[in-house]
Amino acid sequence: MMNCREVFETGLLYHHYANTAYPLTPHSFMQYRINNRDEIRDFVTGEWQKADALSLYIHVPFCKQRCKFCEYVVLEHTDEDIENEYVELLLKEMQMYSEILKGKKIVGYDLGGGTPTKLSVENLTRITEAVRRLFDIEPDTVFSVETTPVIAANEPEKIKALYDLGYRRISMGVQTVSAKLLEALGREGSASVYEKAVENIRRAGFESFNIDLMYGFLYQTDTDFSNTLRYAVVLKPEHITLYRNRYKGTKIESEAGGVSIYKAVYQYRLAYTILTDNGYQANVGKNTFSNVPDDYGTSDYLTKRVIYGTPYVGMGLGAQSFGIDYLAYNLGAAEKRMERYKKAITEGRLPIQDIYRLPQEESIAKMVSVAFYFAFVDLEAFKARFHLDFCQYFRDEVDFVLQNKLMELKQAESAADSPR
Ligand code: SF4
Repeated sequence: MMNCREVFETGLLYHHYANTAYPLTPHSFMQYRINNRDEIRDFVTGEWQKADALSLYIHVPFCKQRCKFCEYVVLEHTDEDIENEYVELLLKEMQMYSEILKGKKIVGYDLGGGTPTKLSVENLTRITEAVRRLFDIEPDTVFSVETTPVIAANEPEKIKALYDLGYRRISMGVQTVSAKLLEALGREGSASVYEKAVENIRRAGFESFNIDLMYGFLYQTDTDFSNTLRYAVVLKPEHITLYRNRYKGTKIESEAGGVSIYKAVYQYRLAYTILTDNGYQANVGKNTFSNVPDDYGTSDYLTKRVIYGTPYVGMGLGAQSFGIDYLAYNLGAAEKRMERYKKAITEGRLPIQDIYRLPQEESIAKMVSVAFYFAFVDLEAFKARFHLDFCQYFRDEVDFVLQNKLMELKQAESAADSPR
């Protein structure tokens, strides 16, 4: 068993793999795996009896082409027939979960991907109407959706349709405005596209608009990144989210060794300075910056997942679910193909590939790892979820981070306050 310093130093050494994902590899969870497929439905049904509230994540795995840095479950070059078929399957999966989740309050909902707006307006409507019809959505739940600049720029009627369907937060990946880097990463984009996209998003009515930016690429200079940050600020989104490139499983994995942790940390600091100078707030280490007071800037689904460990059901190809005491990945996560997902749903089975019955220590590890996405752990939320005192449970770790001035222990002043 490694002590805190060894864990910390190993994390620095393998910094490309040390992120908020947990577990880092499924192999470490094999001992918890439910291997008998016939048990899964009853197990999942029983697990959800433990929860009163949860979030929904719906995955749309389609993109025009896969960006070279993308690690998500994405299918490229799909046509409308495949997308229609997928939506049919998704609706059936939603129907299955609606029976399991009857009476449970839905407190977060994200339509993510992939590129959900690659779907037709008809399919987006079918999914959204099914969400409302099949689940008990709490009235203050903000529906959130993701788009690309090219779609937002070229299909204003689709963006308007999303607003009319009830989506109130929209997120758009810009990633970088460096033409050279965009080309190297296999992505489309230009100033005129971004500006048109923002115009259409605002015209549709969205007042909660997030832009994603990325850093930590081998061929991304600090000047490239600061230009991108300054450009994003000029577009005036309410929120800006930074993603450090994670190389694992991407087409540019071989470049990882060329990016030092110093470069990554320097670029985060650069972003922190530029964004806070321009009125965006976040505690140090957090990825999403917002210029709206008392708003974390993330979707309800993500905010509640990160802070409170609120459980969620992920539906769609490769989607992840985290119950009170289980973790599951849908079919398609590994092979990034639809066949097995389709077969399971057609046979009336939940399309789960791997499901793990978690002992409490692993649920705790999962919640705390994800909490670092916001760079703080809410001690009250931890207590409410696990009935344990965080500082006692992690006594050695808390001592280590305090002694090394890696974190602070603070009393919160308000619900949307900074670090705790
Ligand atoms: S648009 Fe987003 S989800 Fe699609 S391939 Fe690029 S990074 Fe991945």
